[in-house]
Amino acid sequence: MTEQTATLDTGLGWLYDTIQPADAHQQHHCITISHPEANRLYGFCPTGSANLPVGIANVAKPELRPYDLPLSPLAPDELFDLATELERRGFTVRTTWKVHPAITGSVGLVRPAHPTLVAAVERYHRGCVVHPERSVFCDCEAGNAEGARIVRPAPRPAVPSAAGTTGQQR
Ligand SMILES: [Zn+2]
Repeated sequence: MTEQTATLDTGLGWLYDTIQPADAHQQHHCITISHPEANRLYGFCPTGSANLPVGIANVAKPELRPYDLPLSPLAPDELFDLATELERRGFTVRTTWKVHPAITGSVGLVRPAHPTLVAAVERYHRGCVVHPERSVFCDCEAGNAEGARIVRPAPRPAVPSAAGTTGQQR
């Protein structure tokens, strides 16, 4: 198993196979899973373009120059390879977004995220039920507790040849 395989297993498992509590909310933004050895940060958005899931590959620590192109962009065929791998796993790709050379690229998927995750994102957009006037910007205990109840991605399985690579963050 490669690191990218493990990362995709984790992110796709969260998007498609994880049942979310009926009293939790999830921001529409991505969760991210880092792959530091490859200098990559992968994002998984439940409702991105057209309210459908989007997978994102980012250069985690890009080398940038002012007013110029990045020194460490994604590889020219990296997004194509990612889309091909997703298709191989049975996830039909709607489209990809990237202009080479870029430090980020995205893959839009056809299959909607797990309905309980979609419902959790809708709960986020609904905003705070205790303080509806504050909408999604409320920072009260009830709203924070609702967000904390979301089920996070399962830890990635250890990959034998790459020690210390289980970094994972929201
Ligand atoms: Zn509130």
